[in-house]
Parts: sequence; structure tokens; C-alpha cells
Amino acid sequence: MSGQTQRRLIVDLTDQVAIVTGAARGLGQTIARDLAASGAIVACIDVNEDLLAGTVESINAAGGRAAAFACDVTNSERVTEVVRQVAEQFGRLDILVNNAGVTRDNLVMRMKDEEWDLVLGINLRGTFLFTRAAAKPMSKGKRGRIINIASVSGMMGNPGQVNYSASKAGVIGLTRTVSRELCKRNITVNAVAPGFIATDMAAKLGEELIAQITAETPLGRLGSPQDVADAVLFLASEAASFITGHVLVVDGGLMV
Ligand code: NAP
Repeated sequence: MSGQTQRRLIVDLTDQVAIVTGAARGLGQTIARDLAASGAIVACIDVNEDLLAGTVESINAAGGRAAAFACDVTNSERVTEVVRQVAEQFGRLDILVNNAGVTRDNLVMRMKDEEWDLVLGINLRGTFLFTRAAAKPMSKGKRGRIINIASVSGMMGNPGQVNYSASKAGVIGLTRTVSRELCKRNITVNAVAPGFIATDMAAKLGEELIAQITAETPLGRLGSPQDVADAVLFLASEAASFITGHVLVVDGGLMV
């Protein structure tokens, strides 16, 4: 895990309570680390219990406050239970980052039912389940920030990713609708749509495709997890209190 010195955006989230799904590695790990470094207590959610324990240990070792909750985001009962536990243990819930996501790429004519169901289940149903559960304690606290990790694939489409791009377009639709439903409760709901970011997920694309994507990206590089974490941190901060229903694209100019 990269060190504290890489933080570029300084926001004050002292004593706020955050949930980050898919926090064991990749973008979720960097987001959890930066929320904790900004003063938040972070409940880190993942199915990968070994890596999750390592993430939480390193946050706590750096002086942050984090706790691990093993949870499959598609398991409705477990999601409800985890959100209830977090709100009870830490007394409130201020921030939810729906980040857990997977790919199972295939062309539409070869796409298996299981590949479709798995990706829609984790990326879209998981986002819905955590959002529904988190709305309760956030409403009670009369404030909240929900930040959903979408993707440019959900906006521009991407051959081989019919399941993934549909799930992320769904996340954007969910974001806009829930932002309208929860604004009266002082809960903002926004999405961050990353382009190609250098994580294990992007590494699966292979060197040739990564070189091609880099060449097609106006800023001439893949994004870093820090680029995405900074956007999340901004949307979680007081500075973003008048922003809701927005999709913040972090893609190096790919969609321009
Ligand atoms: P990653 O490195 O693959 O990490 C995803 C994490 O989510 C892993 O720890 C994974 O556990 C966990 N996870 C998977 N299924 C889960 C489930 N059912 N319940 C709870 N946790 C689960 O992915 P990433 O690149 O950081 O991506 C994070 C988010 O950003 C995703 O929503 C992704 O779609 C989005 N995104 C990424 C990129 C990119 O270029 N990297 C671009 C656009 C959007 P396992 O280790 O067990 O799989």
C-alpha cells in the first residue's frame, strides 16, 4: 500500500464515519486510506478477508482508525447487518463509498448468463443494497455523502464489456434517482467515473491493450488510484455540499 506522503488533497473529516466497499485492494484501499488520513473512522468491507486485514492494519499503524467487516456486497441480509453494526459501534454513518466491482469480459454473443449475473450482482445490486441500508442511519444523522464508483464504460460503452458497462450505466441511473430521493434528508449522492486506472483490474487487460489505451488518452497515461481517491475525497468533503446527482469523470480526457 502506498504511503501517506502521496496525499494531495487535504480535507477535514474528523470523527466522521465512513464505509468503503471493496477496500482490501486497488481503488478502495487508497480511498479508505485517504478517508482515514483525513480523520474519518473507516469501516472497510470486502470478501477478501486476508487482504482486508492487511489494509486495516496498515491504516491503523499509520495512525488512522479503521475496522474490517467481511461482507459480500450481494448478500442482502449481511449488508443490512454490517451497516447496522457500523452505525451502532461508531454511533453514526456519514459517508458511503460503493466501490466493490468486478469484470467478466466477453463479447455479447459469447456472454454467459453467469458472467452477466455476477457482474450485475456485485456492481449494481451491491451498490443498491448498501445505499438502501446506509440511507437509514444517514437520515437519522440528518446528513450523508454517498459516492458510487461508476466507469466511463458505463457512459461510452466498451466492446467486450456488455455486462460491465450495463452495470455501470445502472450505477449512474441509480445515483441520479437516489440523489433526488434523498436530497430532502441532506444526503448527497454522486458518482465518480474513472477511465483506465492502474490497478489489478486494469492489469488483466494485458500490455498491448494498456499501451493502446495510454496512446488514446489525451493526458498520455493511465490514471492512478490517487487520482480517483482525490475525487472521492472532494465529494465527501464540505466543499462539495451543494453537489448532488453529479458524475465526476476522472479519465485523463478519454471522453472529450
Ligand atoms: P480491484 O483491484 O479488482 O479491487 C476490487 C475489490 O473488490 C477486491 O478486493 C475484490 O475482492 C472486492 N470484491 C469483489 N467482489 C466483491 C463482493 N461481492 N463483495 C465485496 N467485495 C468484493 O478493482 P479496482 O480496479 O480497485 O476497482 C474498484 C472499482 O473501480 C470497481 O467498481 C471498478 O469497476 C471501478 N473502476 C475501475 C477502473 C480501473 O481501471 N481499475 C476503471 C473504472 C472503474 P477479490 O480480491 O476477492 O476480488
